[in-house]
Amino acid sequence: MTRDDDTQRHRPATRLAHAGRWPREQHGFVNPPVYHGSTVTFPDVETMLSGRQRYVYGRRGNPTAAGLESALTELEGAAGTVLVPSGLAAVSTALLSCLSAGDHLLMIDTAYHPTRHLCDTTLKRYGIETSYFDPLVGEGIAALIRPETKAVYLEAPGSLTFEMPDIPAIAAAAKARGLTLLMDNTWATPLFFRPLEHGIDLSIAAGTKYLVGHSDVMMGTVSASAAAWPALKATHGNLGLCAGPDDIYLALRGLRTMGVRLARHQESALAVAAWLADRPEVARVLHPGLAGDPGHAIWARDFAGACGLFSFVTRKAPLDAVKAMLDGLELFGLGYSWGGFESLAIVSDPRTTRSATTWTDEGHLIRLHIGLEDTDDLIADLAAGLERFSAVQ
Ligand SMILES: *Cc1c(COP(=O)(O)O)cnc(C)c1O
Repeated sequence: MTRDDDTQRHRPATRLAHAGRWPREQHGFVNPPVYHGSTVTFPDVETMLSGRQRYVYGRRGNPTAAGLESALTELEGAAGTVLVPSGLAAVSTALLSCLSAGDHLLMIDTAYHPTRHLCDTTLKRYGIETSYFDPLVGEGIAALIRPETKAVYLEAPGSLTFEMPDIPAIAAAAKARGLTLLMDNTWATPLFFRPLEHGIDLSIAAGTKYLVGHSDVMMGTVSASAAAWPALKATHGNLGLCAGPDDIYLALRGLRTMGVRLARHQESALAVAAWLADRPEVARVLHPGLAGDPGHAIWARDFAGACGLFSFVTRKAPLDAVKAMLDGLELFGLGYSWGGFESLAIVSDPRTTRSATTWTDEGHLIRLHIGLEDTDDLIADLAAGLERFSAVQ
């Protein structure tokens, strides 16, 4: 493809295969070369002073980065994309691009915990106040907007607990007041939800998860609407952020298979979730893709799919029962990340990371990432784990 092709006429699977690479400009090779470099030279003083040379210094971009930025900009339907060294750096860069001292931020109560911590410490120190809202607030968000409110931050579904906010209702109320909308879209990826089409200005992702997809690289991305892009680009430049070329190359490689991987993650996770929902050791399953989940109708209306990440709550039991279940799993690693090819589990207590809502479930919350293993093998591993859980009563 050339840079001039009308890529928006292609469907997502086609874009994943072709976006962000230009074989005719790279001696016919299918993938972009990995440019290692700080110094970029100019042919003469005239060019150096003109500002016309596309690449001028390593930190300010190179053709490897341009490939990934361009592919994500296309997938998100954005005005531009910046790359940063982690998902949390994507969160901080996006927030710093639209907030100033004296501003108030409305943050969803179910945000990724390090995002909350950033708001309650560093942003607070710079004079930005954050208050938290119930993910189910809907158009009620309007009543929480103050004169100094500048932005609303969403994450969907909720971190750990998978509540589904009504994004169009919140976006409409926030837009009516001229606020900037940010969303952490790591769970859905632009294949299952395109934030900018729903009124979001800054679409944030931990590329560490499904974009990279192989648990071997840290990466963050922010894609912006035309209105939010100039401030995002300037903030990214001022903070001196850039991602390493080898990491970008691996993210581009991950992008090519993200569609087929996500289809499998989705199918396997729904199968495991439905199986868990029927088990006597399980009080409830938290997965908006399951019919009967409180967020299912909103998910089905707004999202095109679900990934491999969901939680379940056990019936009331001592922590030793959870230890017996999780410590003995053969195929699930105990680890905080997700989005790679392998299955993972964590145990977590949502009570410690909520302030606008309360968590009253008495069982333990276990979050699973369903990887690309055979689903029957994963279910057998979990079945043995639930037997060990029951044995501890
Ligand atoms: C992992 C994660 C992040 C942070 O990404 P890192 O690359 O680990 O910094 C942000 N948001 C969500 C929803 C995540 O799962």
